[in-house]
Amino acid sequence: LELNNVKAYYRQVIGPTQRIIKAVDGVSLKVFEREIIGVVGESGSGKSTLANVIMMNIRPPLIFVSGSVKLFTGNDFLELQKLDRDTLRERIWGREIAIIPQAALNALMPTLRIRRIILDVIKSHNPEVDEEEVIGLAIKRFKEIGLPEIAINMYPFELSGGMRQRAVIAIATLLNPRLLIADEPTSALDVVTQKMVLKTFIDIYNKNIIKSIIFITHDIATVRQLATRIVVMYAGKIVEDGSTDDVIAKPLHPYTDGLMGSVLTPEEEVRKRGLRYIPGQPPDLSNPPPGCRFHPRCPFAMDVCRREEPPMIEVDKNRFVSCWLHVKR
Ligand code: SF4
Ligand code: MG
Repeated sequence: LELNNVKAYYRQVIGPTQRIIKAVDGVSLKVFEREIIGVVGESGSGKSTLANVIMMNIRPPLIFVSGSVKLFTGNDFLELQKLDRDTLRERIWGREIAIIPQAALNALMPTLRIRRIILDVIKSHNPEVDEEEVIGLAIKRFKEIGLPEIAINMYPFELSGGMRQRAVIAIATLLNPRLLIADEPTSALDVVTQKMVLKTFIDIYNKNIIKSIIFITHDIATVRQLATRIVVMYAGKIVEDGSTDDVIAKPLHPYTDGLMGSVLTPEEEVRKRGLRYIPGQPPDLSNPPPGCRFHPRCPFAMDVCRREEPPMIEVDKNRFVSCWLHVKR
């Protein structure tokens, strides 16, 4: 998957005036086969909007402004931004790219049996499907991720929290999409269930059920447990991108550094630097600061930071950062 300088804004109309919120503002990102990308950033940094953009699930007030979203389907590149909703529903959603939306892990319809939920989801992509075939696929997937076959005839409330989460993951991956996007899948779960859910994601990846995962979270401690690569978002932009080991060992962007300082971690080098936090708030994206959007909160801000936006530079192979501190001048 390749996003090239994508801009997607919300347009809020308030009486005679309108407000444009630049939620995803010039994002370029490549997702390769066999990687788990952890997208991290505070709430309001554009992570969920980015997920919708990757799916090309664009509905008002969200507008796709410019850029391209290209998906390699094994033979050629499809430009998703050129497809209409019906085509996306038939060809892309669920089959090529699937999403577990924010809060989905707690939102199975309680009055429907799992069997019915599965059929409804699959029929939303293809009303003609053979029901028995779908249920057969579901049972196979259930077994692969450690759910008993009988769960398929149960109601969500009859399943434990951990089983419910696995059922959601099974449903999302039923049609073998290349890419699975999980939006904050562990927020609002207790620690034990969180661990189980993370393990399920690692399982479906290790068993090659899913080739690539984008895991969205505000919690860098979660991401370091499963991601092979970390992408940091701030105020609608990607500010850092690199392998998990590199980013954790040596964060380049002051914001990443602050994010890591804001969680307690066992690693010695991080602990030595002590527990820090990032003072201030993410900016209002209807009126973002000029230059580097992080400058009002950055302890290293220089004059150039307030005037000019830092370019995204590749400091090392597959190691990107957008910060004037790393631009050789
Ligand atoms: Fe801080 Fe400047 Fe780097 Fe922005 S560009 S993160 S303000 S040093
Ligand atoms: Mg979100």
